[in-house]
This record gives sequence, C-alpha cells and structure tokens, in this order.
Amino acid sequence: MSHTTTELETLLMQRSLTDAQLQAAAEAAADFRILPDATVLKIGGQSVIDRGRSGLYPLVDEIVAARRDHKLLIGTGAGTRARHLYSIAAGLNLPAGVLAQLGASVADQNAAMLGQLLAKYGIPVVGGAGLSTVPLSIAEVNAVVFSGMPPYKLWVRPSADSVIPPYRTDAGCFLLAEQFGCKAMIYVKDENGLYTDNPKTAKNATFIPKISVGEMKARGLHDSILEFPVLDLIQSARHVRQVQVINGLVPGNLSRALAGEHVGTIITAD
Ligand code: ADP
Ligand code: MG
Repeated sequence: MSHTTTELETLLMQRSLTDAQLQAAAEAAADFRILPDATVLKIGGQSVIDRGRSGLYPLVDEIVAARRDHKLLIGTGAGTRARHLYSIAAGLNLPAGVLAQLGASVADQNAAMLGQLLAKYGIPVVGGAGLSTVPLSIAEVNAVVFSGMPPYKLWVRPSADSVIPPYRTDAGCFLLAEQFGCKAMIYVKDENGLYTDNPKTAKNATFIPKISVGEMKARGLHDSILEFPVLDLIQSARHVRQVQVINGLVPGNLSRALAGEHVGTIITAD
C-alpha cells in the first residue's frame, strides 16, 4: 500500500469526509481518465433533432464518416416535446423530479430515433450510458448513442425558483464527458456559437469565438446557449476544461471540430 493510501485510510476512519486534510489526501492520486480518446457530442434537441430529416440526415453522414478516425459518445437533447411536457406538468404544479423524468423520456425517444438511423453501421443505443457495453462498442465500432438527460429523476436537485429541472441534456452530456475523462465535449446546435445576444431575436448580435465562463457570467450571458449550471460544471472540471459549441447545420463543421479546429465558440474554464 502506498504512503498516501495509508494516510488516506487513516484519515477516512477518523475524520469527517469533508475534512480539509482528508480532501487533500484524496486528491493526491494521479489523474486517471477512463475513456481518454473518446469525444462526447451532444446533438441538440430543439436545435437539431426537432428539424427532422433536414437537420439529421447530413449529420448522420458526417458522424458515420467521422467515426473512422474518432471515438464518439453521441448524446441526444430533448427539445420541443419536453418543453410541451414541462408546460403541462408545471401547470399541474408537479415537482422538478417528475419533470426531470418526463424530460428524460423525450431524450430517450430522440436516442431511439438516432439509433435507428445509425443501426446499419453497427452503432448501438446504450441505456443509461453507464459503462456496461460502452467500452466494447467504442472499441469495436467507435461510437455509441445515449440519451442525454442525466438520470437524477426524482432525486434531481431542484432550483430555488422554478420546477424546470436545472440539469438537463447539456449537463448530462458534459457530466459523462467529465466522468469518463474524455478528450473533448462538442455541442452541436443551430447557431455558429455564442453571440452577444440571442441571434434568433437580436439581429445586431455579434459572434464571440472564444470566452471564459467568468467572462460569460460578467457579461450576463450565463443563461444563453448552454444550460447555465453547465458553466459551473466546466469551472470545477478536472478533465474537460473547455467545450465547443458549433453549428451542426453547416456541413463539415462537425468533422472540423472533431479534427480540433475552432469552428464555433470555445467556452473555457479560465
Ligand atoms: P438545444 O436544443 O441544443 O438544447 P437550445 O435551443 O436549448 O439548444 O439552445 C440553443 C439556442 O440558444 C440557440 O438556437 C439560440 O436561439 C439560443 N440563444 C440564446 N441566447 C443566445 C446567445 N447569446 N448566443 C447564441 N445562442 C443563443
Ligand atoms: Mg437546450
């Protein structure tokens, strides 16, 4: 047993689990990445999947070509059907945990549809995106599809001011990338990236190619292109210290982003 393991074990037996010295000892081990060569993609629900054929067919072609050179964990968003469910359920005064389950069912539907489009290439849909069959699929076919909602269900931490579950598919995909220690996290949406204002409603909005989380918050952009809790997740990440948001409706963007090119907005931890 190494010195640090012995020290940690002693501390764990004696101290509170949030004790400062114990926490420092728990940090002493070298970093370990479970799937360091994989990239997580989030295919937007409202922004991409809800467009149906026009949004998805070109992307499927790009994914199929890209997985020759890249290992891909492909998460799905939920989108308009989830928003409809949230409006009904919130009107019924149902709690965040119930809404989280309803939203997850829509991300599941989207994963099921994307899975049908990728089935003939041998790319499976995995339930829960836990490890079970993920490593084998990644090794054999370089890709899996998963449902992007984090499985908090009834146990989601509610936000103070609304029943809309704060951790949705942007967060679920980021958490998977971070826990697996993946190489990159790419959000595939329907705008070139982050703008100074919502480009759908503000025609004079200007594009921001690169920005830190701190700067986004300072400029009041925390509630814009990503679910805002994701910004805090990026800041406290050990592995995935930046994400890129790209326009998946522009052919070639996904392939270029996978190749490490800067084609959208890069949001950095610091
Ligand atoms: P998804 O379906 O992938 O979750 P969303 O529709 O939730 O995507 O989020 C992407 C949308 O965020 C864009 O289509 C855009 O209309 C909106 N948006 C709001 N504010 C901004 C901003 N400042 N910059 C870019 N997009 C923004
Ligand atoms: Mg969204």
